[in-house]
Amino acid sequence: MVVSQSSKASSKTHLWLPEQVLITPAAREEAWGQQILERVRKFNLPVTELKSNRITGLRGENERETYSVAKRTLAIVNAPPSQLKLKPIPPSADWQFHLAQGCPAHCQYCYLAGSLSGPPVVKVYANLPQILANLSNYERQNRETSFEVSCYTDPLGIEHLTGSLAECIRYFGTRKRATLRWVSKFDAVDELLDLPHNNRTRCRFSINAAPVNRYLEGGTASVDERLQALRRLALPKERGGGGYRVGLVIAPIMAIDNWQHHYTELCDRLSKALDFDCDLTFELITHRFTPKSKEVLQSWYPNSKLNLNESERSQKRNKFGGVKYVYEKETMEQLRSFIAEQITTRFPQAKILYWT
Ligand code: SF4
Repeated sequence: MVVSQSSKASSKTHLWLPEQVLITPAAREEAWGQQILERVRKFNLPVTELKSNRITGLRGENERETYSVAKRTLAIVNAPPSQLKLKPIPPSADWQFHLAQGCPAHCQYCYLAGSLSGPPVVKVYANLPQILANLSNYERQNRETSFEVSCYTDPLGIEHLTGSLAECIRYFGTRKRATLRWVSKFDAVDELLDLPHNNRTRCRFSINAAPVNRYLEGGTASVDERLQALRRLALPKERGGGGYRVGLVIAPIMAIDNWQHHYTELCDRLSKALDFDCDLTFELITHRFTPKSKEVLQSWYPNSKLNLNESERSQKRNKFGGVKYVYEKETMEQLRSFIAEQITTRFPQAKILYWT
């Protein structure tokens, strides 16, 4: 369930409320787990204390039912030790780390489909202090090191229940050579505005053309609401904002009918929301899928209008032989040059970090 809540500067923000909360014995022993539990209790959510550290009982009769139960469940757990061994995440950042796994939104193109095992329950990590303490092992001494925290979740979408994103921002605010990057499709940023971030965090929002947002991004804040949240984070402190470095991730870019019109209109809305100087970057990511993600998405969203027709795509193979389907070269080039030009004419100072 997503409820609206009044915030200081906007009329409402979108807050996801799960229908059940599970907590494992190991997570209960963590002070951060107790802090999450307190937040959950403030929303009067029903909590079940599990007897073992395994999350079970979320499988339904079929994939669709499993999806439905899992997506309405929050599990407070400890991150497994394997997550303390960080992996690189090019081109977004040097390293990825995780404060949760699973996402409350319902995007019909979801990047997580097929890449995470088990029911898509939202697991939030109670051992956050240990996760943060581990990061310094990955900082380079001679140059800045960037860390991405949004690979397996939407950290802002669960922030009202965890406080974990704010804790990460505070932690990076104390580092000299490490920076944090996060991205979201939600909009509840009140609790982030006054944090001592010391310019070590870049807050990004994922946005898309109106038809993609309207038909394929269930359970999220609208693009305009995300842009208002971005505006508030980017505004200087003296104007009541957070004074953060910010970014826009246009993703997944889709060659939908009349895409030139829709992406122009999106860029017009960006110009209106960001009508002041700020440190802004863009990341441009085209739509792609794998045989596995297609199978999972079609079981989760059997009536989706998302085009997953392989015959209209090029195959791209990774070094392990895995296949993904991307737009054909000509379409890709048309999308790239058109959207890049829309951005550079409106935001000549902004950097386009990558196109993929
Ligand atoms: Fe998946 Fe990202 Fe949408 Fe969450 S916000 S459902 S992770 S695509």
